[in-house]
Amino acid sequence: MKNENYDIVIIGGGPAGIASAYAAKKHFNHVLIIERKDCLGGILEQCIHDGFGISRYNEELSGPEYARKEIAKLDNIDVALNANVYAITKDDELIKLSYYAPDGVHHIVAQKLIIATGCRERSAKEITILGTNPSGVYTAGEAQYYINIMGKLPGKRVVILGSGDIGLIMARRLTLEGAKVIGVYEIKNCPSGLERNIVQCLKDYDIPLHLSTTISSVKGRKKLTSVTTVKVDENMKHIEGSEEEIECDALIISAGLIPVNDMMKKLGLKMSPRTKGPIVDEHYMSSVPNVYCVGNALHVHNLVDDVSYTGERAATFAKDNLKERELIDVTFDEHISYVVPEVFDIKNIPPLVDFALRVKEEMKNITLKIYADEEVIFQRKYVKLLPPEMLLVKAKIKDDMKMKKIHLAIEKEDK
Ligand SMILES: Cc1cc2nc3c(=O)[nH]c(=O)nc-3n(C[C@H](O)[C@H](O)[C@H](O)COP(=O)(O)OP(=O)(O)OC[C@H]3O[C@@H](n4cnc5c(N)ncnc54)[C@H](O)[C@@H]3O)c2cc1C
Repeated sequence: MKNENYDIVIIGGGPAGIASAYAAKKHFNHVLIIERKDCLGGILEQCIHDGFGISRYNEELSGPEYARKEIAKLDNIDVALNANVYAITKDDELIKLSYYAPDGVHHIVAQKLIIATGCRERSAKEITILGTNPSGVYTAGEAQYYINIMGKLPGKRVVILGSGDIGLIMARRLTLEGAKVIGVYEIKNCPSGLERNIVQCLKDYDIPLHLSTTISSVKGRKKLTSVTTVKVDENMKHIEGSEEEIECDALIISAGLIPVNDMMKKLGLKMSPRTKGPIVDEHYMSSVPNVYCVGNALHVHNLVDDVSYTGERAATFAKDNLKERELIDVTFDEHISYVVPEVFDIKNIPPLVDFALRVKEEMKNITLKIYADEEVIFQRKYVKLLPPEMLLVKAKIKDDMKMKKIHLAIEKEDK
């Protein structure tokens, strides 16, 4: 049994945790990353397609290449691999956590904590599909692991439910490996994934995307033999008579990602019903002082570059010992589905504030404005915004600026 003291501990060794660690090392002596898998890199290890690091490195890297570049920045940082946190508490000052690893049980006391545990996929059990319980039903991430890490094909005739980015990427990957992807079926009337993935992963390979369509049931005693698709109306109700049975041996579900929040719940962090992650202020600090949250554990990001950025920012903020906080709610108009940060600490306003947001529906020729009381602190025009595209904007704050209200508005050009 080992008792250890750290200035800052980071749970999760994906890109968010790695960036948190090397940024923290500039300000703290003793930094520890706790990762439950046997290597650092997080989900990137199985993402062998390119498209990572465009803004950070000005290159189109594969996931593992991006991870290698980030891991190379870690210097003199303790890393616990195959490590599982089984207890975590916080008293007035300190965070106490215990984990077991191959070399035994460790009890840690830390001044600060960054949660960077990533997100998980919505599983088949979380979606209502009637019928039998055959093998051959995978989440898109499972199918990706199967092909890219284990070198196995999950099926030869494949149906994809949900048009999330991982599902789209898998449609292309399966096609390149010789499988027939019959189609992608999306219950909403617009795709969930990025436009570039619709083009590069579906259109370029003639894979049909069926909007306003879902899968109502699956068949197969041991192994999946077919699925039944059905069209839905504007209230997402099944349209009787539109059913179609499709023979297939694999169903891949790509129906959304949710922050991994078990550590947050153990620590009693206030959670956001909108993002399913914790509520943080502009320092990425949660409702529990000195506990921060970054990357996909905070809310689901599109780009790894943005994920790494949040890690660096939170670790840099963590060096400050802030005055007692005074939190106000960040408000936004009806076109926006969520904004992070959801609260704003008006006693400790930094010179640069990050706002991440998504719109509810497609919007064209609009201006995003951020108001501090009546003053506009940020404004930018956009030709087009889509719900799948997360926007990360940075607002400069004047020295000693005081405010009682922060509001984000989307204004149409004809206003
Ligand atoms: C299929 C796919 C394709 C993508 N394509 C692109 C792309 O083309 N371009 C791009 O920029 N981005 C892309 N992304 C997004 C990018 O990969 C993710 O945004 C990024 O990896 C998220 O980083 P993270 O550190 O927040 O989470 P993760 O990478 O998920 O890392 C979280 C880590 O925390 C660990 N962990 C979780 N819980 C615990 C615990 N209790 N104790 C210890 N460790 C724990 C996990 O094991 C994991 O290693 C893609 C993502 C996926 C899934």
